[in-house]
Amino acid sequence: MAQNSSRVAGRHFLQIPGPTPVPDRILRALDTPVIDHRGPEFAKLAKRALEGIKTIFKTTNPVIIFTATGTGAWEAALTNTLSAGDKVLMVETGQFATLWKKMAERLGLKPEFIETDWRIGADPALIEARLREDKNKEIKAVCVLHNETSTGCASPIAAIRKAIDAAGHPALFLVDTISSLASTDYRHDEWGVDVSVGGAQKGLMLPPGMSFNALSDKAIAASKASNLPKSFFAWDDMLAMNKVGFFPYTPATLMLGGLVEGIDMLHEEGLDNVFARHDRLAEAVRRAVKHWGLEIICKDPKYYSSTITAILMPEGHDGDAFRAQALENFNISYGASFGRFAGKMFRIGHLGDTNDGTIVGALAITEMTLALAGVPHKKGGVQAAMDYLITAHGKPARVAAE
Ligand code: PLP
Repeated sequence: MAQNSSRVAGRHFLQIPGPTPVPDRILRALDTPVIDHRGPEFAKLAKRALEGIKTIFKTTNPVIIFTATGTGAWEAALTNTLSAGDKVLMVETGQFATLWKKMAERLGLKPEFIETDWRIGADPALIEARLREDKNKEIKAVCVLHNETSTGCASPIAAIRKAIDAAGHPALFLVDTISSLASTDYRHDEWGVDVSVGGAQKGLMLPPGMSFNALSDKAIAASKASNLPKSFFAWDDMLAMNKVGFFPYTPATLMLGGLVEGIDMLHEEGLDNVFARHDRLAEAVRRAVKHWGLEIICKDPKYYSSTITAILMPEGHDGDAFRAQALENFNISYGASFGRFAGKMFRIGHLGDTNDGTIVGALAITEMTLALAGVPHKKGGVQAAMDYLITAHGKPARVAAE
């Protein structure tokens, strides 16, 4: 019989920073018959989803659920609140911030970038200084990524809110929380965010194809005056229909079932435990990387991301070739490289339905690939990660007894 080399045994290590592995429980929840999206059973499901998602954004205001990926929810946030020619202040944290800016330009807005070297998050002081200069209040929105997925730099959203207030500026505050929501602490209401943009395929552990806008009263008021064209993404139709448990067009019924399951799972674990788990796994990854003697792209620990770590390749070693070698030999996918770091990095995602064992396995694969690829490094990064994880879980019984 001919040898079949097309099968790869075991689970794939999906270590990209989203889409993340979908847990079996959510797969089962998705695997249900399609129901009438204008019927009473659907109204119950929609209510659970629309109420449940508010607990994840930590808001009592409406959250809109779109059948679109995060890019659609970006567009909705801009087109529902702003008008042609409006100035918006954005921070160039990396590739995704750059894409959101490009979208703003295409939509007829005038985005202005606070530039960075893609190795830090958004600095509240720089935002405050720029807003103070804007005497005529021409800037209509400040747009920031809570977690820049392309570099692994997170931004302090509560401090940015304070900076906007300290400048006495009325701009709306729009935050992309796509790769942080349901993985790290996020508080839409308490942090005074006007539109929070979320996606389903990361911390919420769903397949791609669903995204969110959490709103504030100020954002809803702005939507009445905004003149950018919108139709599919218009909030007003959604808000009206959601009130009675329905959608203005055919919703992704099965995904809503999956969403409700994912929200239940997050609450069963406890949101604070979910955040602590992500912090712990991120620290384990950083300990390994530092032990290997490699550089983390995020250069200031205060901006470290708890969901993704981007690693700079040493001179003469290509990040994409490294990723290909790891995939071919060890059945792992890392995040790709972008923009300024194209070919110069690889990214390890450590978010969603993941645990210590998976991360230690992923780090072991990484250490093996470093050796295979001839990348200079100090052996023992996995041990450093394990040592940290052991202490993070409390002292082991035997050591405690000694
Ligand atoms: N914003 C961030 C922070 C992201 O990580 C992504 C995708 O990974 C996007 C926006 C774009 O979302 P999508 O690819 O779901 O359209």
